[in-house]
Amino acid sequence: MPLARRGFLALAFAPALLLAVLFAGVVHSRPTPLWRTAIPTEALRTDRCTWYCHNHGCPHAPVLPAWLASDRGAFGVALRGLYGFGDALSSDRATGYGLANLLVFCVAWPALTGGLWIVAIVQHAELKQLRRRS
Ligand SMILES: [Zn+2]
Repeated sequence: MPLARRGFLALAFAPALLLAVLFAGVVHSRPTPLWRTAIPTEALRTDRCTWYCHNHGCPHAPVLPAWLASDRGAFGVALRGLYGFGDALSSDRATGYGLANLLVFCVAWPALTGGLWIVAIVQHAELKQLRRRS
């Protein structure tokens, strides 16, 4: 295998390898945040959001604009989309919502960005070859 081809493959799969290493590192760290058996509880703090805000609703003044972070903005659109997708996946609303989150953010989004990464590398290699020929 030519050296350039090996370099291309290493570059193409480097993000996936890095992600796997980071994932394994987080999973094997103790205490790991990934194996929760219950939603954490925290007291309300006035200076910043805590798990209290997650569990009971956030009483803090919003920092992000409403078009982005409100229930009527992009955040709300994304949530309704995930719930709608989840409803198509499972009759249990919470399970479907969880599955939709996993499929969108752990499968589809990484696959899309990984695919675009590989396309960019292939196009870069093709342009490099064209420059050499001319
Ligand atoms: Zn808050």
